Amino acid sequence: MKELSEVLKDWEAVIGLEIHTELTTLETKMFCGCKLSHDDAPNTHVCPVCLGMPGALPVPNRRAIESIVKAGLATNCEIQKHSMFYRKHYFYPDMAKNFQTTQGPVAFCMHGRLDLEVSGRGAAERPECAFGENEAKSLASASANAVGLSRQMAEGLPEGVEVSAAALGGMGSYDTAGLAVPERRADGSYSVPIRILRIHMEEDAAKMVHVGGAEGRIGGAAESLVDYNRCGTPLIELVTEPDLRTPEEARLFMEKLRRIFLTIGISDCSMEKGSMRCDGNVSLRRRGETGLGTKTELKNLNSFKALHDGLAYEICRQAEVLESGGTIYQETRHWEPSRKRTVVMRVKETADDYRLFPDPDLEPFDLSDEFIEHCRGELPELPDAKRDRIERAFGVKRADAEQLAGDPVTAAFFEGAAAGLSGKAAQTVANLVVNELAAYLKASGVALGESGIAPAQVASLAKLLASDAISSNQAHEVFEAMAASGDDPEKIVDERGMRQVSDAGALQPIVDEVLAACADQAQQYRDGNQKVIGFLVGQCMKASRGKGNPKLFNELLRASLS
Ligand code: ADP
Ligand code: MG
Ligand code: ZN
Repeated sequence: MKELSEVLKDWEAVIGLEIHTELTTLETKMFCGCKLSHDDAPNTHVCPVCLGMPGALPVPNRRAIESIVKAGLATNCEIQKHSMFYRKHYFYPDMAKNFQTTQGPVAFCMHGRLDLEVSGRGAAERPECAFGENEAKSLASASANAVGLSRQMAEGLPEGVEVSAAALGGMGSYDTAGLAVPERRADGSYSVPIRILRIHMEEDAAKMVHVGGAEGRIGGAAESLVDYNRCGTPLIELVTEPDLRTPEEARLFMEKLRRIFLTIGISDCSMEKGSMRCDGNVSLRRRGETGLGTKTELKNLNSFKALHDGLAYEICRQAEVLESGGTIYQETRHWEPSRKRTVVMRVKETADDYRLFPDPDLEPFDLSDEFIEHCRGELPELPDAKRDRIERAFGVKRADAEQLAGDPVTAAFFEGAAAGLSGKAAQTVANLVVNELAAYLKASGVALGESGIAPAQVASLAKLLASDAISSNQAHEVFEAMAASGDDPEKIVDERGMRQVSDAGALQPIVDEVLAACADQAQQYRDGNQKVIGFLVGQCMKASRGKGNPKLFNELLRASLS
């Protein structure tokens, strides 16, 4: 198979994501009062409603509706006041009612949008030809193509149900008017808007455990067990427009969405535990072509790496099939990370017929302005706004601000440590939090909140660094000691006699000494070999037993040699 970068020169990948998020921060299920629980014994949180007993009546969870409205507001969606629940019928033991309660053509949230900032290595996945004019053409073509589901659902609307044309238009009609075409910046980075088709409310199914088979799959299993504790868990599904063009963009979208959902507190968003799950839809078309190709849908993308690598593999696989004259079938495929491949789960020959119709047990919604404004009022500062504010108020680099703003605990920690600082001092704090602190937490496996590290300690370490009292190499040692002992960096530096000498008068004699001993290298520098300065600085550091300020040594050496 060809490499992704090779493939993407000839082919344009078209990617759309379907992202399910369990509202794990709620107390109770979607339509009954059963407790939400992941750890309790199987089938201990069940009742006639979530077990689908005849005659049991559902009551929507107000807090769940608040959560989805917040999710919509935080992702720039239009909140639809009028929507309703539908029944989506299928037979499987994980849903005892034999239908899932979900939303129809109009979801609570429609037409959203998130802007992605793509930089560094990830930006290189999007080839040069996917900017400017070409891209404008392919964006426009998307609008002509995706209708399918929407039309089907719109036709299924019952009599007397009024739905605004704008809301219906959102069910898969791709409005590209006003959509910005990405431009690559001088540093290779770009930003790109990704449209969100809708976010709708539904309920999770029960958990099934297949025993005695290979890899816990149903095929070959001796028996299957059902745990209805999860059945009826409030779930929101976000569907993007097919606007993503590289696996990296898909990963960034997912990461960004996760940060937003964590910030607004609607879920613990654990991809590992499955409270946030993502299906990746992907198709290819020749660069410059305008129609949409046949897509496959990838399952089991249960980490950011799996999402990226699964899509990257699938793009390369599709290219190989198409280039050898083969056909892509619309099918669902399973990503196998251990074998680095996708395998067919099922082929879609006809559209699924779920006999979708409005649930007669649940009244249509008529959300009030007060309700929506109440939800808006409860939103905390969102990551994008926080990033912009941190960038402005502290003058730190945009990429660092983005990373700091991504997690509320990290952001609060940074703001505590950098309080009253700006410019170089604040950037030094940002560097320590983004690099040293993050690496320490990752290596030790503890959360920032439980690490015992205080913002004041990092602030004090930053001061030592910014004033050149210690070098960045030493900062690493001080950080480790500080994290282990809880001591203040000032104390550690004094105790270990680490304080860097940044006094030119004290360092000049060492420089003179080194230059006298290394006459050859000094001559090489004078002859134009700039690189040899590194060796000379090293000799000075050695002579000062590591205490001299290397930057100052560098300056003094250059001055002495010129
Ligand atoms: P399905 O009925 O197969 O679930 P949907 O119309 O619900 O398909 O779309 C699911 C996701 O697939 C959406 O995110 C959409 O943007 C994306 N999608 C639709 N058509 C394509 C295509 N041809 N290539 C890539 N992604 C697509
Ligand atoms: Mg779908
Ligand atoms: Zn229940």
